[in-house]
Amino acid sequence: MIEETEIQVGKEMHRFMADLYPICRSITGNGVRETLHLIGKHIPVEIHEVPSGTKVFDWIVPKEWNIQDAYIKNSRGERVVDFQKSNLHVVSYSQPVHATMTFEELQPHLHSLPDQPERIPYRTSYYKESWGFCLSHQHLMGLKDEEYEVCIDSTLADGHLTYGEYYIRGESEEEILISSHICHPSLCNDNLSGIALSMFLAKALCSKSLRYSYRFLFVPGTIGSITWLALHEGQVSMIKAGMVLTGVGDSGAVTYKKSRQGNAEIDQAFSHILKASGTAHTIIDFFPYGYDERQYCSPGFNLPVGCFMRTPHGEYPEYHTSGDNLTFVQPEYLEESFTCCLGVLTLLEGNKTFLSQNLQCEPQLGKRGLYRAIGGESEGAKREMAMLWVLNLSDGHYSLLEIADRSNMPFRIIYEAATILVDHGLLQEIID
Ligand code: ZN
Repeated sequence: MIEETEIQVGKEMHRFMADLYPICRSITGNGVRETLHLIGKHIPVEIHEVPSGTKVFDWIVPKEWNIQDAYIKNSRGERVVDFQKSNLHVVSYSQPVHATMTFEELQPHLHSLPDQPERIPYRTSYYKESWGFCLSHQHLMGLKDEEYEVCIDSTLADGHLTYGEYYIRGESEEEILISSHICHPSLCNDNLSGIALSMFLAKALCSKSLRYSYRFLFVPGTIGSITWLALHEGQVSMIKAGMVLTGVGDSGAVTYKKSRQGNAEIDQAFSHILKASGTAHTIIDFFPYGYDERQYCSPGFNLPVGCFMRTPHGEYPEYHTSGDNLTFVQPEYLEESFTCCLGVLTLLEGNKTFLSQNLQCEPQLGKRGLYRAIGGESEGAKREMAMLWVLNLSDGHYSLLEIADRSNMPFRIIYEAATILVDHGLLQEIID
């Protein structure tokens, strides 16, 4: 079993996000590479490059996009919109442009949020060649009707799609997949928080002795998971459980979106841990929108992969705006998300199925010193009850998690009871 979390991890996650925050990421390009290099300072992530034009199922790996600079200058030569001040100012994947134009000509290329006049929106134009700028509505209203010099110094050319992968070898080749998207620029909850959570889970696991192997994927949203699945179609049968991590640092209640299967072990594990945590949470059914669970749960794969988040995307006003910044995400919520996910992984590590060695009537616990022998009065009684549940339900069909659910006892107590019973030769693990 994995041990308890360190209390400071939320602050460390937040600091790490602050390092990643200024980088201009997109679905391809140097921003992704730079991000993976920073992750690589903490865990030995492998960087993979897939050439533009590679066919991945019904999709094609796009051209690589990079950007140096962008601005709109007024007639006095002043930068009135400046990419150097915020990378959100440029529509991601904008093709290069350098032209002088009237305000009327420029206007169709400007995007703002009249409902949230102080925030810069985040926009992309991935699969259609165009260009544009994003700015706060207040900022837009302040622009005069004059001639502007418009420049986007970008390149859109054959190159690569870059993704990161970190594999931790456990006892079994069966693996747990943890996936986060790395394609958003200066936005924190969506999805620097998911990247940070994934990386800190990897850090917590890599020095432990593990039952399962773990695969951490840092991929550009949609095209990245499609590419990984296309290149690893033959090995996905090893994925025993998985989670997509996104939006894990806001103050909203925790949300778990079930896998398409709906009652996979990962779904049961999240339900159990969230219920036991006593904190506010919501569990929602799978639907084919959202993040990379859409690809992992496509019918040809139907992997047991859920999505862990706090407030779902689109349900908070800061979503995909400059309001999703380092203040919007807070260490205490990051920490809670970390604890919850580590709790789920700990549960999966310990969730085994046993066969009682005494199926006909209870074994005599007293003669083995197991009856009224452990801890204080009430704690001892609880342990005994847990042992009785484990002995009764260990007929080869119930996992420890199912026993915990049926007995309405925390998994940890059931797990500890099973460990004692194994030590006394009263249970035998069933290995399938
Ligand atoms: Zn997003």
